[in-house]
Amino acid sequence: MYRSHHCGALTAIHVGTEVQLAGWVSKIRDKGFVLWVDLRDRYGVTQLVLDEKRTPAELLKVVRSFGRETVIQISGTVLEREAKNPNMPTGEIEVLVKDITVLNTAQTPPFTIEDETDGGEDLRMKYRYLDIRRKPVQKGLLFRSKVALLVRNFLAQHEFVEVETPYLIKSTPEGARDFVVPSRMNEGQFYALPQSPQTFKQLLMVGGMDKYFQLVKCFRDEDLRADRQPEFTQIDCELSFVHQEDIMTCFEGLLSHLLHEVHGIAPKPFPVISYEDAIKTYGNDKPDIRFGMTFCELNDITQNKGFGVFDSQELVVSIAVPGAATWSRKQIDAWIDWVKRPQIGANGLVWVKCNEDGTYKSSVDKFFDSDALATWATACEAKAGDLILVMAGETNKTRTQLSALRMALAEALELRKPNEFAPLWVVDFPLFEQDDESGALHAMHHPFTAPKPEHLDKLETEPTSVVAQAYDLVLNGNEIGGGSIRIHDRPTQEKMLSLLGFSNEEAKTQFGFLMDAFTYGAPPHGGIALGFDRLVAILDGKETIRDYIAFPKNNSGRDVMIDAPAPLDAAQLEELALKVTPKAE
Ligand code: ASP
Repeated sequence: MYRSHHCGALTAIHVGTEVQLAGWVSKIRDKGFVLWVDLRDRYGVTQLVLDEKRTPAELLKVVRSFGRETVIQISGTVLEREAKNPNMPTGEIEVLVKDITVLNTAQTPPFTIEDETDGGEDLRMKYRYLDIRRKPVQKGLLFRSKVALLVRNFLAQHEFVEVETPYLIKSTPEGARDFVVPSRMNEGQFYALPQSPQTFKQLLMVGGMDKYFQLVKCFRDEDLRADRQPEFTQIDCELSFVHQEDIMTCFEGLLSHLLHEVHGIAPKPFPVISYEDAIKTYGNDKPDIRFGMTFCELNDITQNKGFGVFDSQELVVSIAVPGAATWSRKQIDAWIDWVKRPQIGANGLVWVKCNEDGTYKSSVDKFFDSDALATWATACEAKAGDLILVMAGETNKTRTQLSALRMALAEALELRKPNEFAPLWVVDFPLFEQDDESGALHAMHHPFTAPKPEHLDKLETEPTSVVAQAYDLVLNGNEIGGGSIRIHDRPTQEKMLSLLGFSNEEAKTQFGFLMDAFTYGAPPHGGIALGFDRLVAILDGKETIRDYIAFPKNNSGRDVMIDAPAPLDAAQLEELALKVTPKAE
């Protein structure tokens, strides 16, 4: 037996017990006549004590030779500590060491294994196994495991079955590039790694599985934006004989359950907002509704009043920043510079201070008198003390810019409270997005999403006005899930693919198997997938998903620990019938 207890287990009730412990030497304090060692494992830290009176000199010498992170096994007696530490569970005791076995030696780690480490991100990722010994990383992984278990239990209780789907497949379009795997046995042919198990879960419905789920890895070869991983985990689900509302009820139940189990939050119905309203009110389709600053369109009351900057623009839109009327010119100018940066690209901001004394002061006083400014304040429900910020420009661009400003202001004003949770549904997405230049249609969700039944006859005539039976689950400004009711008949699926620009031939080659399946009695079905990594991070009040993934990739998609991706050697390339042509300099 390596150990009788974990390093976090011993308390005052164990005083007098003979114990064996095993773990890592995390700290040694040597006072000469007495020596303390902090022994650490996943469960905690136990203080070991050795002294000149009670410990053989040989043993003291051995301990003095230990470096940090030496792996040892000890036996000893639990004693009550003289100086107790109420901040640690084992703080009332220490173990008087009688015997020590060194299980393994350790090089000095490249960074300190402590809660606050001196190691930078790159170094920690290179030695991720040492990083994982640190409490904060361990906590993240344990939390992830706990949430996974809650999810599995909830879904199992609701009659979902977990079914594994293959990783070596053919492309499933979710709008990213595929990672591909060459097939040795089928020369010149490639598998694609799934961007999601979308088609397989639909086939499981045709197979009569009724309710499917899977905590599943998905792979998307995208240019990595901050905090995206090329492989990530989804809670992937599909259900038969359901309408959109049934799916929303079920997964609102799941998220409410998690919020209750993790944070003790009492379930409350989630707000539902249409895509159109979300865009109009928040400038994006994943609004953070923990704070106000909602958009107010001012075209009617600001245009044709002699201010050319507004008159020439498609949209004049504002937000009211709470309590910011006291900002100095310098502070306001800093935000004006902020929106003018190329990353945002706005022309500038018009501002109106709604002073506590009921007067107004604005950057456009020459064009608008107090009465006019008062109508702006009424329109955007600005209170005394608020600062109104106005942007004008092309509609879509301006909404995106003001949305970025709204989020940055909320961040600066600390309105995005990590321990507050504001879930909502966004519904009624358009079925298609249209490419501005080519006019080509793209599926907004994916090509298997069903249009609203009452919009079916508009598919051909006015496809861009067709609304999808699709829904997103949003939490604190993050899209944490999305799904749809699916097309389940061949003619509609064929029409959809043809509208998306697939020839009959291409449609057959890529999705013939799915459309064939639809002709053998496919039940009406729909589903959803939740991004598990992000969900876990947000539930824990954080935003970086990397902290919840044991072995994440860096921003260039590299695993710097194992140094992947890496070239193949010539023999392997030949076996796979692959030729690598070096890029011309
Ligand atoms: N497969 C979709 C996705 O990965 C989710 C769904 O429609 O169920 O976003």
